[in-house]
Amino acid sequence: MKATKDLCERTLAFLEQQRLPATPRNYALGFFHCWGTLPALSQAIAAIIDGGVRVTQQEADSLYAGFLGGVMGESPVAPEEPAAPGTDVLRHQALRLVDLAASAQAVTGEFSRELAFRLEDFSEDDLAPLRELLIATLARSQRSERELAATTAQLEQMRSKLEIAQGDAERDALTGLPNRRGIEAHLTRACADSEPRVIAMCDIDRFKSYNDRYGHAVGDRVLRTVAASLKSSLDDEFVGRWGGEEFLLVLRGDLATAQRMVEEARRALGDRHFRLRETDEPMGRITFSAGITMLPADEAAIAAAMERADALLYQAKEQGRDRVIAG
Ligand code: GH3
Ligand code: MG
Ligand code: MG
Repeated sequence: MKATKDLCERTLAFLEQQRLPATPRNYALGFFHCWGTLPALSQAIAAIIDGGVRVTQQEADSLYAGFLGGVMGESPVAPEEPAAPGTDVLRHQALRLVDLAASAQAVTGEFSRELAFRLEDFSEDDLAPLRELLIATLARSQRSERELAATTAQLEQMRSKLEIAQGDAERDALTGLPNRRGIEAHLTRACADSEPRVIAMCDIDRFKSYNDRYGHAVGDRVLRTVAASLKSSLDDEFVGRWGGEEFLLVLRGDLATAQRMVEEARRALGDRHFRLRETDEPMGRITFSAGITMLPADEAAIAAAMERADALLYQAKEQGRDRVIAG
């Protein structure tokens, strides 16, 4: 609580030093600057004030538009490059937008929570105008959060439409594996026969770091490599791409047998040492975590089983990744 109060005071002191009125936009700008979570923004402000000059309202407005407009949901999050032909380019732009929307949503959510938390400090009468201001800022921040959540959902839909436009509606164009629609169709068929089956939700560990370090094209290669590795380890079993860096396996047999198979697939991938094709730089091990559970015979219970596999996968991540948890 003390830390949040300090940050609030520093924000107001910053605005006072700069002779900037505590409007919601200026407050947000000062808040992120003092908080330090947007280093590029703090650097841009430091570059202005280091020479002993103050930030003008015009500069504050342009800093807000440049650094916080997207975060606060006022201007669309723009792609970094102009659209170019080629489905990979489109897909990578969609990916960047999804990532941006997700991280903006996280920042905005954090901002709303901080503001809500701080409102308690403004109960005295003489602070009533500031309290009003914070309430208005909080309402805006919460609206931005809702808008960003809607944007993320729309972007996900756009990705799915792109897949359909690329050809086979049940096949993922990148890995050649059945996509989510293909998986759902397979699960419905699998429920209809009496053979026991197990589902395994597998998620590549720290996959985002490959994109961040080497770019999306290398990230795509990692996805294809993992897809091929799972396919070759699991012979005739069903391997689908659930989305992003998540793969869903449907394995015949009981839970213990399936767990052994997934463990073997995990080891087979983890034992390989990958190098970047262009530079021969070692990329380290590529690993995944998995949650596995029985597939129910009742189609209506598939969603619950998927949730269970997801929860077990989450446990595997929590326990340090590169592991399989069955339950
Ligand atoms: P964790 O170990 O917790 O699973 O971390 P993670 O980095 O694997 O998980 P996170 O959900 O943070 O990141 C997943 C990333 O996968 C974010 C998204 O940009 C990327 N991604 C999703 N689909 C694709 C794709 O088709 N190609 C590429 N290159 N990246 C993708
Ligand atoms: Mg994931
Ligand atoms: Mg992952």
